Amino acid sequence: MSATSFNHVQISRAALQHNYRLLQKKIGSGVRLLAMVKADAYGHGMEEAALSFAHAGCHDFGVAELTEGVRLRKSGLKGNILVFLGFDPADAALFFDFELTPVIFDLESAEVLSRVALQRNQKIAIQIKVDCGMSRLGVLPNDLRDVVKKIKGLPGVQLSGLCSHFPRADEADATHTAAQTSLFAELVKELAENEELTVHTANSGAILYCPESRFDMVRAGISLYGYYPDGHEGAKRAEGEKLRPAMSFSTRVLQVKTVPAGSGISYGHTFVTEHETTLAVLPVGYEDGFLRSLSGRAEVLVKGKRARVLGRVCMNLTMVDVTDILNVTAGDEVVILGAQGDEEIDGDEIAQWMNSISYEVLCLFGNTNERRYIT
Ligand SMILES: *Cc1c(COP(=O)(O)O)cnc(C)c1O
Repeated sequence: MSATSFNHVQISRAALQHNYRLLQKKIGSGVRLLAMVKADAYGHGMEEAALSFAHAGCHDFGVAELTEGVRLRKSGLKGNILVFLGFDPADAALFFDFELTPVIFDLESAEVLSRVALQRNQKIAIQIKVDCGMSRLGVLPNDLRDVVKKIKGLPGVQLSGLCSHFPRADEADATHTAAQTSLFAELVKELAENEELTVHTANSGAILYCPESRFDMVRAGISLYGYYPDGHEGAKRAEGEKLRPAMSFSTRVLQVKTVPAGSGISYGHTFVTEHETTLAVLPVGYEDGFLRSLSGRAEVLVKGKRARVLGRVCMNLTMVDVTDILNVTAGDEVVILGAQGDEEIDGDEIAQWMNSISYEVLCLFGNTNERRYIT
């Protein structure tokens, strides 16, 4: 038997499915809801999360790299798997072997796929990404007509979808997203009308705040994991049932000690006690995704109360102030992300302490710690 870690991340399957159903209800049954499960499903575990969404009715999944797509298909998942970040030409055959759909952003990739398709005497469905204003991956609108025309002339490849991505869909002011939606809609009208193409561009922000951007399918990431892309603002704005965070992260107290006034705490003594202080030493540090930028700022929950981090976060250890919390002892549960008693710390609050966004918090905690699933 192997020893268990003091730290673990807990994932609620029920919350993942609640979020999927809530979003599907919001967009209506005429629009497909693709689950973005890249980055190990934002730290929630790609195979497990995809299976939960599949049970809630999901047929479309999105990953970043080809290797993720292969892993996901090997897990036995049915349905469409879109690979968004391209591929090394040497790996092109894997799209055929594992029935994955490449989202391409240049003509060369389509030519490679066409050659492999001919060799294998098979056909492959591909989708094109258009860059309508993100200035990231994608064919620029001016080049799109030409690329589409050439792709249609390639044997063995079948154009099955057209997509884009929004840079500012999480903003309360949807002006930019609406303008980009119009540009994309024009391209769709010109190039994809009368064709069997799946058209999609909306991410969580657009799903929530720009209904006209939904087209045939939407691609949800952060909202499936229970967070609003604009953080607490979004949660405040939401009417009716709310998204539910699916991840919590906890550790336990390793040692409790009381130090006198004037004690420097942790590396560099960036914090010096002004009075007698009781510390709880926690076996969690930046190695576990509890970043050093949380030093002196973050809080955790001990016995249902907030305890502040004192001094620097170390690689594997962190000290918190439990002076005002009675009877803390070694072994007590400490919640870093999630609820304990009447208190709760969510990913948006931690993100604020880190000067970041919930997305990064979930990836960090989820992908560096042991995950457990509850139903
Ligand atoms: C990650 C990603 C999404 C999902 O974005 P969220 O803001 O998490 O909903 C959608 N589309 C693409 C191409 C992505 O890379």
